[in-house]
Amino acid sequence: MIIVLRPDSTEAQIAHVLDRIRELGFRPHLSQGEKRTIIGVIGEEDKLRAEPLSALPGVEQVLPILKPFKLASREFRRDETVVTVGGECGPPVKPVRIGGGSLALIAGPCAVESAEVLETIASHVKAAGANLLRGGAFKPRTSPYSFQGLGEAGLKILAEVGHRHGLPVVTEVMDPRQVDMVFRYADMFQIGARNMQNFDLLREVGQTRKPVLLKRGLSATVKDLLMSAEYILSEGNPNVVLCERGVRSFEDSTRNMLDLSAVPNVKGQSHLPIIVDPSHATGRPDLIPAMARAAIAAGADGVHVEVHSCPEKALSDGPQALLPAQYAALTRDLRRLAELMGKTM
Ligand code: PEP
Ligand code: MN
Repeated sequence: MIIVLRPDSTEAQIAHVLDRIRELGFRPHLSQGEKRTIIGVIGEEDKLRAEPLSALPGVEQVLPILKPFKLASREFRRDETVVTVGGECGPPVKPVRIGGGSLALIAGPCAVESAEVLETIASHVKAAGANLLRGGAFKPRTSPYSFQGLGEAGLKILAEVGHRHGLPVVTEVMDPRQVDMVFRYADMFQIGARNMQNFDLLREVGQTRKPVLLKRGLSATVKDLLMSAEYILSEGNPNVVLCERGVRSFEDSTRNMLDLSAVPNVKGQSHLPIIVDPSHATGRPDLIPAMARAAIAAGADGVHVEVHSCPEKALSDGPQALLPAQYAALTRDLRRLAELMGKTM
């Protein structure tokens, strides 16, 4: 349920409501918007309903949250969440805002392959205007015989190269046992499509405050995606960015089927930012630019695109990588679109 505080409620009254909730054995989740303060209380509602919470000073209303996802819902937070990524390590890395009118331009190779290759790609995507560098060090490959990623050595390369170029870095974590290690190098965790419902992993990243890029599962509904976000939020980490990356369908000329309606669909139900990954959604460089433009036009808070300086030599997902020049042409278009839509990138 949510407890809506009166606009004139005092700090002391808010603190008293929080204490009371803790005394009852629940964990309060505070949301301080521009106009309203709301406290979310998640758990066995029957136990709470017996308590006259509405009688506490400063409380205006106590309402049930009807959606199965609670902290992720618009009911809990009316204002759009803005997630800030990176910047803890100081210059030259500037923090990047995602949501609330600021677009994330995430780009880089599918996998970190070597310092030299990543250096080349990073300088190209940085010049084209990307504001976050991606690259996998732990790769979820369909075949156990395919390149699995460089592990910790790859994380080191990613952080060094990205930060030297002033770019915060995002990389996939596949297992709860990798969370501590990835935490040390990455500015943002990526939870891949195949792990969207790895609930232990969601809980583990939820116990940090590091931003999480949560990708939609291959056959997950929008509701499933928001329920997975709820796992992270309920552990206390409010920094979740969702990612639509296509779902499985009968169509076999594209890698997946991009569900662009997920963007306004999520925005209607949730305050969390959502970006689009047209690379994994289509698997085709000839379709990626059009789908990236459509994503921004649909209201997405950014795009996540795989770029490689030599796709034919890439160790994973080469066929879907954009060349640096193609990426630069795309960001030029996106900049014009962003301007039209009153967004910054
Ligand atoms: C990736 O980003 O490289 C990746 C594996 O994506 P997804 O989890 O969406 O398939
Ligand atoms: Mn990939």
